[in-house]
Amino acid sequence: MSERPRLTVLSGPSGVGKSTVVAHMRKEHPEVWLSVSATTRKPRPGEKHGVHYFFVSDEEMDKLIANGELLEWAEFAGNRYGTPRAAVLEHLESGVPVLLEIDLQGARQVRESMSEALLVFLAPPSWDELVRRLTGRGTEPPEVIERRLEAAKIELAAEPEFDVTLVNTSVEDVARELLALVEVV
Ligand code: ADP
Ligand code: 5GP
Repeated sequence: MSERPRLTVLSGPSGVGKSTVVAHMRKEHPEVWLSVSATTRKPRPGEKHGVHYFFVSDEEMDKLIANGELLEWAEFAGNRYGTPRAAVLEHLESGVPVLLEIDLQGARQVRESMSEALLVFLAPPSWDELVRRLTGRGTEPPEVIERRLEAAKIELAAEPEFDVTLVNTSVEDVARELLALVEVV
């Protein structure tokens, strides 16, 4: 039996740099497939439907959940997010390494349903730097930043649940470390 390629889950507090690191890695290594999640959050400027997320209504999200179409889903800071199951399984079956960029609650669900998954935690160099990055991104109003920082405290405390921790000091270094984890079968 041929070995299945690895399913890697990347989690970490909002603003730590997950999207930045993944985009950097995939620029050089587009062969790593990043799952596109469904979300009820509104698009940020520049975000495209079907590329960054599938932006769906509350009713559409209800249906995806009820029909069992999501591998995992969670509510995060007032919006729902979920991973379409079929695309993940199809890519794994056709030999493509799969990366999920999801929150802590989602990572826990994947650990339960797909025990072969590798769970990677992206940590900030410090709390102050996390606050600086989240605020500096300038994409959320202050009350949303507050909600995300509250969630960040819970996510940081869960770091020991993960298989590997990477500290996002340098985007280039972390992207290289993540690639090595994703591509090792
Ligand atoms: P996440 O996807 O985890 O919410 P982002 O990738 O949107 O986070 O990054 C949040 C902000 O931090 C962005 O403005 C990004 O440019 C910046 N950032 C990401 N990684 C680093 C890093 N290693 N050093 C400095 N700034 C970073
Ligand atoms: P953002 O709104 O900043 O794009 O994402 C907020 C949080 O939701 C991040 O921690 C991100 O990793 C997480 N997230 C994105 N997609 C999914 C998903 O499909 N499932 C879960 N559980 N979390 C997700």
